[in-house]
Amino acid sequence: MGEVLDGRALAARIREEVRREVEAFAARHGIRPSLAAILVGDEPACALYVRNKARAAGQAGIRSETFHLPARTSQVELLELVDQLNEREDVHGILPQLPLPEHLDPQAVFDRLDPRKDVDGLSPYNVGRLVLGRPALVPCTPLGILELVRATGVELKGARAVVVGRSNLVGKPTALLLLAEHATVTVCHSRTRDLATHTREADVLVVAAGRPHLVTADMVKPGAVVVDVGITREEGGIVGDVDFAGVQAVAGWITPVPGGVGPMTVAMLLRNTLQAARLQLEGGAP
Ligand code: NAP
Repeated sequence: MGEVLDGRALAARIREEVRREVEAFAARHGIRPSLAAILVGDEPACALYVRNKARAAGQAGIRSETFHLPARTSQVELLELVDQLNEREDVHGILPQLPLPEHLDPQAVFDRLDPRKDVDGLSPYNVGRLVLGRPALVPCTPLGILELVRATGVELKGARAVVVGRSNLVGKPTALLLLAEHATVTVCHSRTRDLATHTREADVLVVAAGRPHLVTADMVKPGAVVVDVGITREEGGIVGDVDFAGVQAVAGWITPVPGGVGPMTVAMLLRNTLQAARLQLEGGAP
């Protein structure tokens, strides 16, 4: 029976660590790290994520502001806000909450962000650094996934890692982080032929497809580390991409949904905000 990887407990430990480092930073500089979240429209899930992140920031001693723009906001207006926040010395991290309404281009927003304030690591500069193996600010969810895998103590060097999903937000950066840890990485996606032949090879299996019950017990190598990133709202709550009960019987470790990757994403956002503030006040790359 696989061990449950408790993302809430690990995230709580990291948040406490960040809180202590934030206090030290504030003592050094007489200013607290600060985060500006941009929320466009009235999608309840997005509003909830932003509220949770702002609350978590407050608990870590990080100042936070939320800029809530109406759903009809134009691309030009959104980019103007980004410009203003880029200019403000008292804002260290800028977080455009995804997904944006359909008429807005998220990449144009990340293209415009000051890379030193890009706490979700999605600007071309930060993506480029990650590809080069010289990471600066790294996307929060992939960082949280890596921390969960590390918490198992499983040797990543030489391990077979399979990532299901190739989005810029989750799949690709997760694959790059695992590669940097010297895993042998396969990235699967919706056109992959016979997904199970790949997943069955995985010592570490990360599933980020947004397809409930995509991964079943017969697709998992005995003893594998299984990280379920998926979040789908169904009646009765949120579900992941992995058939938890079945897969737990085969896996060595497995993350629950909720309570796995989600809380880690928030913890990594706080860590990145502190890192961004350090970059701006103490120097270093970018
Ligand atoms: P996305 O942009 O929709 O990407 C999904 C990826 O999965 C795509 O690469 C897609 O392939 C692939 N895919 C879809 N169906 C598949 C199938 N049947 N077999 C194999 N691959 C398949 O989503 P995302 O932003 O990466 O997010 C993925 C999931 O993670 C979502 O449920 C999202 O809500 C969740 N999420 C959770 C957190 C968290 O903090 N816990 C954070 C971010 C996202 P193609 O590229 O070929 O279309």
